[in-house]
Amino acid sequence: MHSDTNIYPIIALVFLALFIIAKLGLLRNLDVMFLSREKKWTLKKFFGKHFHYYNQLSEKDRSKFIIRAYKLAKYIKIEGRQEFIVTDAVKLFVVAAHVQLTLGFDQYILPKFRTILIYPDAYKNKMTGKMHYGEINPRGVIVLSWKKLVKGHKIPDDKINLGLHEIAHALMHTIIHSNDHEIGLDPYLRDIVRLSRKEMEKIKNDDLHFFRKYAGTNIYEFFAITVEYFFEVPSEFKTELPILYQYMVKLLKQDLA
Ligand SMILES: [Zn+2]
Repeated sequence: MHSDTNIYPIIALVFLALFIIAKLGLLRNLDVMFLSREKKWTLKKFFGKHFHYYNQLSEKDRSKFIIRAYKLAKYIKIEGRQEFIVTDAVKLFVVAAHVQLTLGFDQYILPKFRTILIYPDAYKNKMTGKMHYGEINPRGVIVLSWKKLVKGHKIPDDKINLGLHEIAHALMHTIIHSNDHEIGLDPYLRDIVRLSRKEMEKIKNDDLHFFRKYAGTNIYEFFAITVEYFFEVPSEFKTELPILYQYMVKLLKQDLA
């Protein structure tokens, strides 16, 4: 038998396979497709009330924001500690900083960081014996003080935002230690680290540096604080440290200034 008579069933099979793959992709988003108009309205009202960042977005990005927040609130395991009660509203509040930091990405999930523990306020870290407000650990757990998290979002321009700070640590850890993230971020992070080291030297010798002193602690804290300033005072950041600002725009694919 001549071989090219058999090509049509193969083409048909390829199309069938593509159809099934597309269907499966749709199924994964089924819960979002069935988000009712009322639910979307409730989510928009919730984020509009509590998040300055959300209110700065275009209508299109607001829709993207609420859908991602809704998905992440289901995807990430969020647990209370010291009798802190985790409600649906708490979950949405907790994932907001994650959605904000990664809104410019196509791949916005940080696969390793799937657990968040919430304490009512500062808690004692067993390793250090010190009181903490938040931390991430390399096993993929993020820990947050609820009181400090809320305060961080409530005052949008004091350059302190616990949620953004900790999720920035998680993003940096993900870029450095895995390949399972938005593609193309590594060279931008390398440039940011190179520039940051120069700024860290300046911070040590200058009490009036644009960034708070804690940024000089190490490169990880410097990056987390860079993220806080990037979102809370973008115009000042752009004026004071224009090159670093531009690299942050490239990394995060957002520009609020
Ligand atoms: Zn930190």
